Amino acid sequence: KPLLQRSTAHSAPWLHHSPTNSVPTIKNFIQGRFVPSPASLDQIHLYDPSTNHHLANVPRSSPTDAIHAASAAFPSWSSTPPQIRQRFLLEYAHVLHGKETREEIAHWITLEMGKTSLDAMGDVWRGLEVVEASCRAGVEMLGDSMLNLSNGLDTISYRVPLGVCAGIAPFNFPAMIPLWMFPLALATGNTYVLKPTEKAPSAALLLAKILHDIGLPPGVLNVVNGGKECVDEILTHPDVKAVSFVGSNAAGEYIHEVGSKHGKRVQANLGAKNHATVMMNDADRNSTVKALVGAAFGAAGQRCMALSVVILVGDVAEARVWVEEMACEARKLKVGNGFVDGVDVGPLISKDAKSRAEAIIQQSIDQGATCVLDGRGVVVEGYELGNFIGPTIINLNEHSHVQSNEIITNPAYTEEIFGPVLTVLTVPTLDDAIQLTNRNPYGNGCAIFTSSGAAARKYQFEIEAGQIGINVPIPVPLPFFSFTGNKGSIRGDVNFYGKSGVNFFTQLKTVTSNWQYGKGGDLGGTVMPVL
Ligand code: NAD
Repeated sequence: KPLLQRSTAHSAPWLHHSPTNSVPTIKNFIQGRFVPSPASLDQIHLYDPSTNHHLANVPRSSPTDAIHAASAAFPSWSSTPPQIRQRFLLEYAHVLHGKETREEIAHWITLEMGKTSLDAMGDVWRGLEVVEASCRAGVEMLGDSMLNLSNGLDTISYRVPLGVCAGIAPFNFPAMIPLWMFPLALATGNTYVLKPTEKAPSAALLLAKILHDIGLPPGVLNVVNGGKECVDEILTHPDVKAVSFVGSNAAGEYIHEVGSKHGKRVQANLGAKNHATVMMNDADRNSTVKALVGAAFGAAGQRCMALSVVILVGDVAEARVWVEEMACEARKLKVGNGFVDGVDVGPLISKDAKSRAEAIIQQSIDQGATCVLDGRGVVVEGYELGNFIGPTIINLNEHSHVQSNEIITNPAYTEEIFGPVLTVLTVPTLDDAIQLTNRNPYGNGCAIFTSSGAAARKYQFEIEAGQIGINVPIPVPLPFFSFTGNKGSIRGDVNFYGKSGVNFFTQLKTVTSNWQYGKGGDLGGTVMPVL
């Protein structure tokens, strides 16, 4: 385990080593410095998901100091010219392009979260693309103006920053999702408090350090560690003007409600159960099967855009052939520690996540489903204590079609498992597949596989999901666009990144001026002007 040894790096400046503790404590990043939290605070244990080795403790910190630092930095940062703010991000993007920098961030991701090294490099890369896009925030911030709306009267509308913004991030993309949040907030003139996941916080702390090392003024970006208590303080603090959240429905619905009640803008991307529809009569079987297996089992299914349901459209007997091919392809995937070359599927984030997924698989079988491929009980040599589950495929209706309007109650369908479990259903027509997908409470992403333009167009027109792939299994938009959830997968109405992201982090300020004042252009009087 060569990289694991590097990870104990006593040099990592966010790790606080004390003689009384066998594991380090994660520090916060406030006012441009890594600061330890008071030792008296409750600690959350952080484990390596491949070994369950206790790596560090995460203090349940208060965000107050971080919010104060961000408030104090706001007047100066918000009045920094936009091109200078962008220059920090240009330099940041340049540094993040460095392969060694990305490898170092990816290393912490694999260690704490478990995804493979290659996938962790992708995590950083997709975040870097948002940094790149944030470098043109000045253009997106341009306002509107109109001359001579009345005699001598001009109106200009500006986009101005909000103040202190906060981000609450999930475990499954420890770099990409923080990078969805703070770069655009900073580029548009806000200051920031990030609360990374308590399950894999190091990537976010390293990202903050890198930005700081290129000269970002202290207090502009702060990182505070903790769990629900920390979030609650963020949600109720009067200085915080906007909250970005990505994570589960349980947390996100609560955060949206409490944050909104306290007068904050809230954008919240929540859970998912992404359905793929396969037109068996005209989809290319070989490439579709490969796409489905990659999208279902990559990152051990711990992607919000993972395809976790496949609806096969056509005959049930033919469907069994497709399912067998999926199983055959999935059996080729290697389960193991994400640092090991050739591994495709890493561990689940925690022992609890593993037991929950295993329990759902069992309940699904108990309720009549066929487990075509069972990944429970997989043993990874050298990592016997890790949270591994191998690719699992559950067929809900081997012998007859799902009836239209049937309410499916099997937990493999109703639960967001967030593990390497693919649930398969068969329906007779495309209309049935669309109805079934639309009845699902989530609406993050979906995909259709077909060579029929007519089927694809009908699907894209009628389906209710934020992101639709046509022969594209994971259709996450690049940052020129925005990340667009639908139904239960989103709260708030302003999306992450892209133009929508700029709108989220800015508010309009409109100025109407009259320089004919005193020269016949007066607007005095007691009635509303009509001409
Ligand atoms: P999570 O909701 O458990 O945690 C996310 C963040 O919220 C963490 O920082 C955590 O500390 C905080 N949190 C958790 N419970 C809280 C509570 N009760 N009150 C206040 N804060 C709370 O999510 P997770 O397990 O880290 O991430 C997985 C989930 O994220 C999945 O549901 C996945 O679909 C979703 N996700 C969605 C998207 C998207 O764009 N739609 C992207 C990635 C992940």
